[in-house]
Amino acid sequence: MGKVIKVAGPLIVASGMQECRMFDVVRVGKDRLIGEIIELRGDKASIQVYEETAGIGAGDDVVSTGAPLSVELGPGLIESIFDGIQRPLTTLLKQSGNRITRGVEASPLDHNKKWRFIATATAGSQVFAGDELGYVQETPSVRHKIMIPFGLEGIIKSINSGDYTIDQTVAELLTDDRLIPITMLQKCGVRTGRAYAEKTSPSSPMITGQRVIDTFFPIARGGVAAIPGPFGSGKTVVQHQLAKWASADIIVYVGCGERGNEMTDVLNEFPELKDPQTGEPLMKRTVLIANTSDMPVAAREASIYTGITIGEYFRDMGYNVAIMADSTSRWAEALREMSGRLEEMPGEEGYPAYLSSRLAEFYERAGVVRVLGSKDIKGSISAIGAVSPPGGDLSEPVSQATLRIIKVFWGLSASLAYKRHFPAVDWILSYSLYSDRLNSWYNENVSQDWSTLTTQAMAILQEESTLQEIVRLVGADALSSKDKITMDTAKSIREDYLHQDAFNEIDTYTSLAKQYRMLKLIITFDKLARQALEKNIEAEDIIELKVKEKIGRAKYTNENNLAEFDEIESEMKKEITRLIN
Ligand code: ADP
Ligand code: MG
Repeated sequence: MGKVIKVAGPLIVASGMQECRMFDVVRVGKDRLIGEIIELRGDKASIQVYEETAGIGAGDDVVSTGAPLSVELGPGLIESIFDGIQRPLTTLLKQSGNRITRGVEASPLDHNKKWRFIATATAGSQVFAGDELGYVQETPSVRHKIMIPFGLEGIIKSINSGDYTIDQTVAELLTDDRLIPITMLQKCGVRTGRAYAEKTSPSSPMITGQRVIDTFFPIARGGVAAIPGPFGSGKTVVQHQLAKWASADIIVYVGCGERGNEMTDVLNEFPELKDPQTGEPLMKRTVLIANTSDMPVAAREASIYTGITIGEYFRDMGYNVAIMADSTSRWAEALREMSGRLEEMPGEEGYPAYLSSRLAEFYERAGVVRVLGSKDIKGSISAIGAVSPPGGDLSEPVSQATLRIIKVFWGLSASLAYKRHFPAVDWILSYSLYSDRLNSWYNENVSQDWSTLTTQAMAILQEESTLQEIVRLVGADALSSKDKITMDTAKSIREDYLHQDAFNEIDTYTSLAKQYRMLKLIITFDKLARQALEKNIEAEDIIELKVKEKIGRAKYTNENNLAEFDEIESEMKKEITRLIN
């Protein structure tokens, strides 16, 4: 047992700690505050404490638990709301009112609740780590597989379907030398990734229903993306949209360091939303982790690891998991604060030198993997981090470190947000390194001319920005008729296509089939317009055609009414033919 010798905010130094190991979890003082050893020198340990340290003083006891920071994994995760070290916020608030009192002991998962376990493996069969023993239908949307824990293999001695708590034995495993009881609960350290058989490269898109993303800057299942943008540019709305609509089986949403009311929005809104795939409430496949700005800073540092470890657990069941972190900048500030208290040598802007490697350690845990076990099963984690650089200046360390790691960059622009063009994803700045690989998927699964169409549309947008420069210098009169059509089509792509209202019931989500039809409409109009120019029709007359209004409203077409697009297309052809003749 050690003794506190110094308290500096969330950092405590204790002596007499020679028996402890780096990253052991400890309990501090009579309130038994939770902390983690982040530096060991001789018998002195520096401990980051996950709770308010007021009242702790020199001489207070420090007791090691002998275990690293871990999470409980098992039935009951879904629909939970945890803090950064997996304390159940809903239970805590119930126990202690509005403010969470310190040192409260509350298990992350409910240990009294009984779950119906359905055995799928049989006694006598040989099993390996990762193999499925059975499952619990945790929610209508999630079949929670119970797997052989890491490091074990053997012959199943007994296994029985029935109602069990997570601590009760559902099966017995005969290994070389022992009979091991298997429960539905696993404990797992958060600082290193869970084991898998093999990492493979992402090859299919995670569909988000957000047109600018799916069409121009797609993220692969198992991909990593960042959303940098200044305050108010729409980072949180994009993250919420992804949590609601992304084609993932499990969502882990980590609110780290943002305002409490944004998390409240999530808590109020998500339970009411319906999953478009299953019709079930979205919470039935969601785990929330909240460490808002008013909560202790050290737990914020842990929150993204807690989140991704839970994500990995579901990945290991063969699911596609998406994790959102809002915002990694607030997370990095927590890291900086702890580093400052440790009196480490500060790097750029006071961030520790290991900022990049810590960020990488998080994002590297995303990907597509073949999971452990004797069956060929794949699972994935896609990770999306919001970055909030002060003033939107991407040259600062957190943005720079993030850019070196991620493969999709959705750069939000203050000027687009100011013009209320949402999502304010800057189409000139943004990129997706998965585009080339995913194009063949889109061509096969949506339409064979998908990549031709999107390339054409992007070229028009790029040409628009060149033309805008010319207009600024010499005025719009300098534009040729063809340029005028280009400008008009670009405007249509921006306003009728890229602009997407997250709060409109229909516009909030667009299927790939509808995205294709919408973009096709705009590009077909462009083609017909250019044919009309050849016949000496004035650009102005084409731009003013009545059908343009319908193209503008096409986004509000109901998903099960896509035949309407045929009508708009034939109307468009009629109007242009009428102009020509
Ligand atoms: P940030 O997290 O970058 O500070 P928010 O995500 O909170 O910004 O967005 C700020 C505001 O911008 C929102 O409250 C909303 O009014 C508007 N907004 C952002 N994205 C959209 C969108 N896709 N559709 C409609 N409004 C949006
Ligand atoms: Mg935000």
